[in-house]
Amino acid sequence: MSDCVFCKIVAGEIPSKLVAESEHAIAFNDIKPAQPIHVLIVPKKHFNDVADLAARDEVVLLDVMRLGTQVAEDLSIGSFRFQFNTGEEAGQTVFHAHGHITSKTPRA
Ligand code: 5GP
Ligand code: ZN
Repeated sequence: MSDCVFCKIVAGEIPSKLVAESEHAIAFNDIKPAQPIHVLIVPKKHFNDVADLAARDEVVLLDVMRLGTQVAEDLSIGSFRFQFNTGEEAGQTVFHAHGHITSKTPRA
């Protein structure tokens, strides 16, 4: 998708603060963090939202879930949210599937 901001981040055309990477996904810091830990988990391939991803690619879906929970466990004390805003009404602003890992308490 040529005008998709997360496709551009995956391609390295827009810089981001990479936190972790797996075979099918990357994790990078949200540009406008809402909590002390705020990391986005983004499949390398373009899907419009998590419903599109779940319907079309279970391998990538599992990889996204595992990368997100691994990042959350590495960075936080183990208490976190893993949230997928889906659709404009739910607050989705970037239409490339992504999960938000947010947590109040970084691991010491
Ligand atoms: P949504 O509202 O779609 O669930 O989440 C999109 C998120 O992407 C927002 O939290 C927003 O701050 C973040 N975001 C938008 N553009 C960029 C960008 O260019 N770089 C990074 N790191 N985050 C971005
Ligand atoms: Zn995209």
